[in-house]
Amino acid sequence: LKELRISSSLGTSTICLGPIRRSLEQLGAIQKSVLITDRNVASLYSHLFLGCRSFILSPGEESKSLSTIEKIYRKFFDWRLDRSSTVIGFGGGVVGDITGFAASTYLRGLPFILIPTTLLSQADSSVGGKTGVNFLGYKNIIGTFTLPRFVLIDPCFLQTLPEEEILNGAAEIVKHALIASPGLFRFLKKEWPRLLRKDKAVLKKAVLTSIQIKSAIVCRDGKEKGERRKLNFGHTLGHALEKSCALSHGQAVAWAMDFAARLSCRLNLLSPDDLTGILTLLKNLFPSSSSLSSSLPPKESLHAAARLDKKREAEDIRFVFLSGIGKAVVKKIPYFELERLIDDLYQSG
Ligand code: ADP
Ligand code: ZN
Repeated sequence: LKELRISSSLGTSTICLGPIRRSLEQLGAIQKSVLITDRNVASLYSHLFLGCRSFILSPGEESKSLSTIEKIYRKFFDWRLDRSSTVIGFGGGVVGDITGFAASTYLRGLPFILIPTTLLSQADSSVGGKTGVNFLGYKNIIGTFTLPRFVLIDPCFLQTLPEEEILNGAAEIVKHALIASPGLFRFLKKEWPRLLRKDKAVLKKAVLTSIQIKSAIVCRDGKEKGERRKLNFGHTLGHALEKSCALSHGQAVAWAMDFAARLSCRLNLLSPDDLTGILTLLKNLFPSSSSLSSSLPPKESLHAAARLDKKREAEDIRFVFLSGIGKAVVKKIPYFELERLIDDLYQSG
């Protein structure tokens, strides 16, 4: 069992990676623990939590709403939870975000544990303390920064995951490689076929390296005042594309990383050789979405995307570029500048 500790302005959190599945039965025995999960995960793994009081969500992003949170508060109230209770979130990123938000706000904060079961949540979203729900069509605009007491990661759960969900996680792992780790990039360049085939050793190594990168960044900058902004690489345009072109999160982020890498090269921040390496990896993993010429979304949707990004500040936007493989630079640029760059890139094809 590998153990990592996060200690930042947000408090502390312990991440355990390994075959924790066998010891889960004991969690139900934690005094006054309750479980939040979704219907798919419950149908596959409910035997692990026999006897635990549970709240079961409908799977999918639509559950990430204030109305779900209200239903959970009512349950917490009916169950007479107090600050000695522990809330366990068992499932993907949606379950994790909702569990964290409900637990961190009820009675001004109950302790919670996350057991992520998707590649995306294991390699990314369960680590770092962001909790939240969507509101008025915008992702995660209501939420808190609260670390779970524990994150228990068992790559075994990934064996039941559909390919689309593996790709969603792969996009975040590539993101971590591009902003912080040439070593992880080389590993992915070689092992991507085995990652897609859910090879256990490859998944485990990719998840471990990913959370090492993310937790190091979160330790240095818990509340996204500086370095943590690098983790938004591929997400400014990615979120908007996801919405406007009905792409999966992974496909949209892959496309946006491809785009951001090209912009970086155009600004002479990134070498053409590095760009070629990046585009090749993205094309291998995401054959349908990483080729600019074959799947160009309308230029206007990218402009609108940039403007609607919630991280914008007045007339400027913080955009994450690459200055090498494993090196990100966050630049505050005016919108018109970003729009001009987008236009430029469209013209050159
Ligand atoms: P993400 O983790 O990508 O943010 P979700 O929480 O929406 O996304 O999970 C994606 C989908 O995968 C959901 O339909 C969820 O029920 C399902 N799921 C989660 N974990 C597993 C698993 N271990 N095996 C199979 N399906 C799973
Ligand atoms: Zn993401």
